[in-house]
Amino acid sequence: MAAPQSTLPYPPIHKDAPFVMLSDWDGTITTFDSNDYLTDNYGFGYPKRRDMNKEILSGKLTFRDGFREMLKSIPESFEECKQILKDNITLDLGFRKFHDWCKENGIPIIIVSSGMAPLIRAVLSNLIGEEDAKNIDIIANDVRIDQTGKWEIIFRHPESGYGHDKSQAILPYRDLPHSPTLFFFGDGVSDMSAARHADVLFVKNDKGEGLNDLAEYCKMEGIKHILFKDFSQALPIVQSVVKGEKTAEQVLSGPSSEVVV
Ligand SMILES: [Mg+2]
Repeated sequence: MAAPQSTLPYPPIHKDAPFVMLSDWDGTITTFDSNDYLTDNYGFGYPKRRDMNKEILSGKLTFRDGFREMLKSIPESFEECKQILKDNITLDLGFRKFHDWCKENGIPIIIVSSGMAPLIRAVLSNLIGEEDAKNIDIIANDVRIDQTGKWEIIFRHPESGYGHDKSQAILPYRDLPHSPTLFFFGDGVSDMSAARHADVLFVKNDKGEGLNDLAEYCKMEGIKHILFKDFSQALPIVQSVVKGEKTAEQVLSGPSSEVVV
């Protein structure tokens, strides 16, 4: 299948990096999903959103169309949304340490998100500081705000059912001659497009039974992954691969992995 056309530019790839960390933002680097937070508290609310997520998981509705509906139900201005998120979104407990270790070791972290880049940039800078935030690439969707203040999401891949096909952030690394080891961290339905393309897939498993959508999807599809509750659990596993103590295959068969037979 041909790669979907991107309406938005990509940052240059880290072509000499032997290891690359690609991570979802909402609910993975942060403790909960900012778009869900806005939809549940300001838009049409949790029950309707949850029903839509189930339809997306079962393939009845595309993520793109469901997500657009969720965002449309939020009456607040974009600036108000930004402030609400700055006030309420918190960082995964172990992310700061994980980030610092990656920084010390020159390992790039790339945020691959179905959210809107300006919101992510604002919240990230607020959480880890402007300087560190600048060094993290964000590959996400964007926003269009008209003169009346009305806003809507601009999808990176409008013709893809994912809106942002996250695999397109990973696949260029596959063509590099030294084939870097790619780690991906995610938690939800927006990560389904990326799930099968990383060397080591970490799936966040911090919600109640039946609410960890990416874990459910990977089980259904038989995609090998490692469950983690926060980045402090992922860090030693990542370190063991980076230090050459274990292979990607070995950590995927380790004690926190969920391998479906
Ligand atoms: Mg997420």
